[in-house]
Amino acid sequence: MKKRLTITERIKITKRGIGVLKQYCPGLAGGKAVSALLAAVQPLVSVWLSAKIINELDGERRMKQILFLVAAVVLTNFIVLLVKSIVDRVTEEKEAQMWNFFGKVFADKTMAMDYADLEDAKILQQKQAASQNLFMFGNGLGQLVWGLNSLVNAAANIVLSLSLTITLFLSDAGSKAVDSPLWILGIGICVVLGGLVNSRATQEENAIFEKWCNITVWFNRAFTFFGQVLSTSLERAKDVRIYKQNTTADRAFQKMEERDKEARAHVLHMAAYPALAAAIASIGNIVCWVYVVLKAYLGAFGVGSIVQYIGALGKLGTGVQDMMFVLIDNEVYCRHLQGLFDYLDIPNHKYEGTLPVEKRAFCDRGDTDYEIEFCNVSFRYPGAEAYSLRNLSLKFKIGERLAVVGKNGSGKTTFIKLLCRLYDPTEGEIRLNGVDIRKYDYDEYLSIFSVVFQDFKLFSFSLGQNVATAMEYDKKKAEQCLKKAGLSERLKTMPNGTDTILYKDFEAEGVEISGGEAQKVALARALYKDVPFIVLDEPTAALDPIAEAEIYLKFNELIGQKTAIYISHRLSSCKFCDEIAVFDNGAVVQRGCHEELMLERNGLYHELWSTQAQYYGNAV
Ligand code: ADP
Repeated sequence: MKKRLTITERIKITKRGIGVLKQYCPGLAGGKAVSALLAAVQPLVSVWLSAKIINELDGERRMKQILFLVAAVVLTNFIVLLVKSIVDRVTEEKEAQMWNFFGKVFADKTMAMDYADLEDAKILQQKQAASQNLFMFGNGLGQLVWGLNSLVNAAANIVLSLSLTITLFLSDAGSKAVDSPLWILGIGICVVLGGLVNSRATQEENAIFEKWCNITVWFNRAFTFFGQVLSTSLERAKDVRIYKQNTTADRAFQKMEERDKEARAHVLHMAAYPALAAAIASIGNIVCWVYVVLKAYLGAFGVGSIVQYIGALGKLGTGVQDMMFVLIDNEVYCRHLQGLFDYLDIPNHKYEGTLPVEKRAFCDRGDTDYEIEFCNVSFRYPGAEAYSLRNLSLKFKIGERLAVVGKNGSGKTTFIKLLCRLYDPTEGEIRLNGVDIRKYDYDEYLSIFSVVFQDFKLFSFSLGQNVATAMEYDKKKAEQCLKKAGLSERLKTMPNGTDTILYKDFEAEGVEISGGEAQKVALARALYKDVPFIVLDEPTAALDPIAEAEIYLKFNELIGQKTAIYISHRLSSCKFCDEIAVFDNGAVVQRGCHEELMLERNGLYHELWSTQAQYYGNAV
């Protein structure tokens, strides 16, 4: 937790928080404020009108006036309750949704961040702290919503009850003792003392809560885990019995009970505060009653006003106490909001150029070619000591097929990440047609690439929408791409063709597809984008041997004039590539076509090929 915030900082943070609420949950803060205002208005208006009715009954007894006042109290109650229920209905709906919208605050930030930051452990921790605070305890934005409600309610109670009691303080009972300002002072002291005791309780509660937050997180996680181990998890039942894991779980439960006892000790201590506050409130109550009744007895006002003053003084007391609570609570949620804003304010460091990428008819060869060149590129992940790529120089032109092979961890995926500008080189330069890729507009630059990552993801939308990555799409083109990717037979069995919904997340009739079929859809998606560069990272890993062979056979037809960069562990699939780059320890150690590389009998390629051949025979 950070240092204490100044009032100016708190106002600034609260204002920004309200701005975030307005942007992501429009109407929620306003709705809460209106509801809180009406909740304060209704009882006080009733008290005020009831006092008038009693005074009339006790005084002139004008029937017309009494009927008017009764109608007024019934009608205002009805109108206020009606408006409040409508506002509450709408606001409750928004409040139930607010967690989803808070999720969008994080999603928007994630989308806007530099990709490099998404993998940064420090930033991930910052994000986790902010989101855990918000989603587990409602700290920050959640507290702000509830805090605004309490603020408006407390402020309205103070203003309205003061306006209803001002005549009490000004009225003259004709007795020095009863009219003495000491009564007002006494009432004031009780109200403020009660408020202070409650505030102290809130402050201590907050301090304990902050201290125990981490333990609660651990407690919840441990409880869920061990609870599942011992009672619900069938998959674990075998292990639990064989290794007697229940004793470990029992010990964990014991530990949790000890911690819980400690927590309960605090609960007892905390209960003393409300008791003290109640005692002070009772003394205040006695003072109020004596003061008001004495004044009424001495003829300062009618009996009806007793109802008004006692009711209003009660509300004044709660209003002041609530306001003190709101102000203390504001400090706490402002600090949580600050944590969230610190995360949201992480700046983007990636330089974004403005140059457009010339859109060329990439099937034409010749001077319209795109050329990508890695010029002496070295790269180290942020925070890492070792280089993942070293002095990489590589050039490839449109229409070429480049295979990238190498052992695990040799830098193949890092090479692709740099090519797609997910990271910028630590040293050296990557050029597109002779220009540093940093100088291009990022979206423009990305628009010339299609990538099928190993861990690609599809959405639970229709097959066609997945292929086109758009809600509206060219059906014919989507079908063609699916056919090219080897899904024509499966497409025939889809109940609604390309309109068939994939997976059952949103639709009961959604179709489940296998991992291999999903990989083909991902391939079709890359083809649909119809761009000059296509990057395939292990594109056949989930396919069965027949489907894999089909893809290899049709590879040239599939890729057409596009430049293909092809990462594969299956060396036989690289044979048809124009060039193979062999990566080792972050550097390209060999380059050439299959036949050339096989001639280098001491080379890594020959070694990798021979090792695979041992297991697959000649047909690796
Ligand atoms: P390959 O794709 O050839 O298996 P990678 O490009 O994924 O290899 O990894 C190359 C090296 O970079 C490895 O040593 C790996 O541990 C390291 N590396 C990969 N990703 C990260 C990361 N996000 N942070 C730090 N090091 C990483």
